[in-house]
This record gives sequence, structure tokens and C-alpha cells, in this order.
Amino acid sequence: MSEHQLKEALDTLKQTGVRITPQRHAILEYLINSMTHPTADDIYKSLEGKFPNMSVATVYNNLRVFREVGLVKELTYGDASSRFDFVTTEHYHVICESCGKIVDFHYPGLDEVEHLAAHVTGFKVSHHRMEIYGTCGDCEKKHAH
Ligand SMILES: [Zn+2]
Ligand SMILES: [Zn+2]
Repeated sequence: MSEHQLKEALDTLKQTGVRITPQRHAILEYLINSMTHPTADDIYKSLEGKFPNMSVATVYNNLRVFREVGLVKELTYGDASSRFDFVTTEHYHVICESCGKIVDFHYPGLDEVEHLAAHVTGFKVSHHRMEIYGTCGDCEKKHAH
């Protein structure tokens, strides 16, 4: 399944005229296999052994290229540590307030809210953002001690 996603992602890059470098290939592969919504720094740390000349800035620039062609979403939380999510199907996130873990969950898209917002405000709505916050199972267990 992830092989298929990787191939599709590489096709998207080709179609949009983005050159596929070994680094870009490796970053994409990492994103597809990672379920953890990594930061640029996480990706850098896991690939630096393979690409000694690569910097965090390079990783970040490549992620920005992927974002521009719609392959990844950047999740910003008001600090420097944006997290990146390979775009598969639409999903929402539940975030642990204790350890920062982000977990995907599926729920029908809240299109009605967008329509209502557009209707009430006259905005041309592009997207919305909804996040659920709480404490993950692991953190909850630690607190119980
Ligand atoms: Zn947690
Ligand atoms: Zn996600």
C-alpha cells in the first residue's frame, strides 16, 4: 500500500515538473511510512546518516515543495515546530496536551459548517481546521501512578 502511495506521489512530482532527487525520494518515503506527523527536525534526524550533507533547511525546503504541489499538509501550532502530514484521505486530528502526540481519526468532513460560514459571512471559504485535544492513553497511565 505504501509502495503504491509512493509511486503516486512520485508521479505527481513528475507531472508538476518537480525534479526527483534522492533526498526528496527519501523524505517522501519517510512521510508515507510515518504515522507520527513528524517535524522537519524529526525527518532530518532520521535521514542524516544517509545524507550527511543535508541540512534541516534542505528538509524544510523540500517539505515546502511537497506542500505546494499538495502532497503534504503543514500543521502549524504557533511555534517553530510545524508538523507534516502526508495527504491521504481527509482526516481530523486528536492531540495529546501532555506529550504532543497527534493521532488521526476519520469523521465525515464538516462541509455544512463551511457552507454556513460562507452563507453567514459572505466569505469564499477555502477550508477549515478542527482539532480535538485531550490526554493520550500512555500519558493517562503515567498520571495514574
Ligand atoms: Zn500523551
Ligand atoms: Zn494526520
